Amino acid sequence: MDSTENKGYDAAVVGCGVVGLAAALVLANSGFKVLVVGRRPEQFTPTDSQRFDPRVYALSHRSQRVLDRLRVWDNLPSQKVQPVSEMQVWGDGDGDAQGYLRFNANDSGVDSLTWIVEQSSLFEVLLAAIKYQPGIDWIDAQVEGLSRERQIWSIVTMSGTVQVPLVIAADGAQSMTRRHAGLDFELDDYSAEGIVTTFEIEKPHHGIARQWFDDKRILALLPLPGPYVSMVWSMPLIDSQPFVKLSNCDKAMQVQQAAKGLVGELYGNFKICGETHAYPLRHGVAPVWFGDGVVLMGDAAHVIHPLAGQGLNLGLEDAAELANLLTSRKRLMSVQHLGLADEQLWRAWERRRKAACSPMHWMTDGLHNLFRIDLPGVAWARNQGMKVVNGLPMIKRWLTQQAMR
Ligand SMILES: Cc1cc2nc3c(=O)[nH]c(=O)nc-3n(C[C@H](O)[C@H](O)[C@H](O)COP(=O)(O)OP(=O)(O)OC[C@H]3O[C@@H](n4cnc5c(N)ncnc54)[C@H](O)[C@@H]3O)c2cc1C
Repeated sequence: MDSTENKGYDAAVVGCGVVGLAAALVLANSGFKVLVVGRRPEQFTPTDSQRFDPRVYALSHRSQRVLDRLRVWDNLPSQKVQPVSEMQVWGDGDGDAQGYLRFNANDSGVDSLTWIVEQSSLFEVLLAAIKYQPGIDWIDAQVEGLSRERQIWSIVTMSGTVQVPLVIAADGAQSMTRRHAGLDFELDDYSAEGIVTTFEIEKPHHGIARQWFDDKRILALLPLPGPYVSMVWSMPLIDSQPFVKLSNCDKAMQVQQAAKGLVGELYGNFKICGETHAYPLRHGVAPVWFGDGVVLMGDAAHVIHPLAGQGLNLGLEDAAELANLLTSRKRLMSVQHLGLADEQLWRAWERRRKAACSPMHWMTDGLHNLFRIDLPGVAWARNQGMKVVNGLPMIKRWLTQQAMR
């Protein structure tokens, strides 16, 4: 495309993260003509020293259903998807004062609480689905600028300018589209980073995900297929920057300390087998998610702390809710009359999605803050609280069901 073109697209999706690709498939499945704009995700090639993509996601039952509906879930290679049978969480007390919580899939009547899936495998199946889905074109370039005139957006890329009536901003937490559309967003920095890497282990993990909270850091070890676990360790910048510079052996020793010395007992020999990456941790929710031909989805609309592994799940649900609304409208009218520019559609969508996202946002932010309160009695109370909940099977079952709905 080398000049301004209007090819009759119903919408453009800006951003080729998992949410953008899922949203494009939802729209095309509903019969709309969609343009995807953004750099194609890079493929990850496993090597002997780096068997897994260091970036993995815990995907909820709802996300599994979304991906199933898009006919991509079954295409994920089984050696890249790990069901989680149990979740164990330790608080920050010492000895008997340490809180502990355990959630088990069988106790809740399901096969798995969640699934750990590589980011690159998700990209692979979504890209394959897009390739065979009629109604999707792609411009493999970053958006350089956007402007709006007479209800039409012009999207400028290195490959030219294209015109569309609706833009779906799925370009992440720092969304340029959101800025150009003049939609507010206050992104609060936790002054912390999430460090991710992969460990090779000696003893079987039995599909158990484990998490350790202390007053500043949250360590998660998530099971991967085979003798591997993925680490996601959230810590203040002051600790994360020196940590990433340590040797692999020293990193493993720090993990052992943070896991209260349990690593040897739980995993046997434990060594890093891949790269270490650090991601900034932030949170924020846009007060308004649509306006003047622009809709915010995924991290462009809401960013949460990864301690509950829910950010991408919320983004996939944004796309799923759109699919639900379009399906129910299609029963009433033809695609020609469906009209993506209909404000009522987006108003209904925004209302439903905000209602689902807000509790998760405040819960993750609240939990993060709860473990940072350094007042007498608070540490005792939060650890006791964990123990009390752990002794209440009905409450645990309810909590698990809420998380899996
Ligand atoms: C350490 C860590 C662990 C996490 N673990 C989990 C987890 O286990 N489960 C979970 O559900 N969530 C998790 N999350 C949250 C999850 O990573 C995000 O919520 C998710 O990636 C958001 O997806 P997205 O597609 O909205 O945005 P992104 O993944 O940020 O994708 C945005 C895309 O837009 C593109 N883009 C940006 N600007 C432009 C432009 N100008 N033009 C074109 N394209 C552009 C980017 O290149 C990118 O491809 C975690 C987050 C962190 C930091």
